[in-house]
Amino acid sequence: MHDPAVDEIVVPAGHGYALTLLQGARLTIRQTTGHQVVDLIAFREDDATEFVSPSHTIASTGRLWPRVGDHLLSNCRRPLLTLVADTVGRHDLIIAACDPWRYRYDFGVSDHRSCSDNFLEVLAPYRFARHQLPPPVNLFQHMCYHEDGRVEFCTSLAKAGDYVTLEARRPVLVAVSACPMDLNPISGGRPSDITLIVNQAGGEATPPPANGQSR
Ligand SMILES: [Zn+2]
Repeated sequence: MHDPAVDEIVVPAGHGYALTLLQGARLTIRQTTGHQVVDLIAFREDDATEFVSPSHTIASTGRLWPRVGDHLLSNCRRPLLTLVADTVGRHDLIIAACDPWRYRYDFGVSDHRSCSDNFLEVLAPYRFARHQLPPPVNLFQHMCYHEDGRVEFCTSLAKAGDYVTLEARRPVLVAVSACPMDLNPISGGRPSDITLIVNQAGGEATPPPANGQSR
């Protein structure tokens, strides 16, 4: 039976989506074919000067990526979202969102879609300028950090049907981007669609993956 409190939205590969979550609402981000990195930014719904800050989150959790039960903290060190379910266990809080200059200067490609442009596109009603976009939480991104300081862009460990669920600690504006990067291996070289499941009623009703999990 359709639950009117639960919405399911397919975000096409390389595109973004924005939504507001009520306090206690849950957002599940699910893989379709797998290996898809999803950049996420989030702001307090009533005050966009407070936003999820990956570097503040790392300082308090003492980890390079969040685990189930960890809060994503704001630049004022308050929890805005909590990771409440995660079938992958590997994410990234360090790397900047891709933007037109990443493609132009590092790959020699112009007119490539980017997470930064996706955020501006889906947040257009809120009139954010690019410099107001905070650094992203890179869900499903698998960075390899080596002893000698080298940083390697490894392929996401997420498989078809894998998902994370975030719970809003207060009303938040969230934007996600199914990262269009196809010039390094982070999303397997071939970006794919993602599915959002939004449960504004919250609670324990995290829907099971629709696809058969291959793990
Ligand atoms: Zn990206």
